[in-house]
Amino acid sequence: MLKPRGLLFGTAGVPLASPKPSSVEGVKTVKSLGLDAMELEFVRGVRMGDKLAEDVKKVSEELGVVLTAHAPYYVNLNSPDEAKVEASVKRIMDTARAAHKCGGWSIVFHPAYYGDDEPEAVHSKVKELLKRLVKELRDEGVDVWIRPETAGGLAEYGNLHEVVELSRDIEGVLPCVDFAHLHARTNGGYNTYDEIASIFTLLERELGEECLKNMHMHFSGIEYGERGEVKHVNLEESDYNYEALVKVLKDFKVEGVMISESPNIEGDAILLKKLYTSATTT
Ligand SMILES: [Zn+2]
Repeated sequence: MLKPRGLLFGTAGVPLASPKPSSVEGVKTVKSLGLDAMELEFVRGVRMGDKLAEDVKKVSEELGVVLTAHAPYYVNLNSPDEAKVEASVKRIMDTARAAHKCGGWSIVFHPAYYGDDEPEAVHSKVKELLKRLVKELRDEGVDVWIRPETAGGLAEYGNLHEVVELSRDIEGVLPCVDFAHLHARTNGGYNTYDEIASIFTLLERELGEECLKNMHMHFSGIEYGERGEVKHVNLEESDYNYEALVKVLKDFKVEGVMISESPNIEGDAILLKKLYTSATTT
């Protein structure tokens, strides 16, 4: 498994500039764009044959491009339908298995919807299922990080505290922090230097300094309303304070992988990497 050293910037899926929409070409394009990571997007289902996985692993190791993966959107660990819960567990596990086959480092998933349930009840349910799922994966030898993502919509389980608690209570689990989602969920919050810094202060306090050296993060511009996230947009079309984000990343010496989920994908990944590379600590 190729692990990140320092802070790497990458794309959610194959870059737009890739000559072909294949993961192998995607990894090569990431490298040629001067980026260092790519998230395999299994958002509409996990499909990864053994031969393709082998090829993806080989090219990523050769070029030093770290791989992460995103589980399908159709996941709800709090579905009232037991069959849907089991299907959700399987989708997360299949994402981890596929990422592992490709030499991936970390996977991210959207855990659940609150539905009509109390947040505490949803949290307990997600926690029990996640414990079981991580144990089964470890028994199979799948050792990628399993990361619940901070969610952008208020109907979705996954505020910062919930995700931090899961990470504290379950070995092998760490948060995927999506800065655009936190901003949208709080209707414009987490947008000043101090607000963004408070995320890392919390992570360091609750999960230890190691967490800051092992971050899996998403960013993009975002439009939002009363219920949170409306849609992802490019950084420069949004009010997201990415200059502040870059300063915080420098000051906290954050390491790991930062994935761009903007519509221009590599455009904002390159923009943020350039800004980060030229920034100095305060
Ligand atoms: Zn996501």
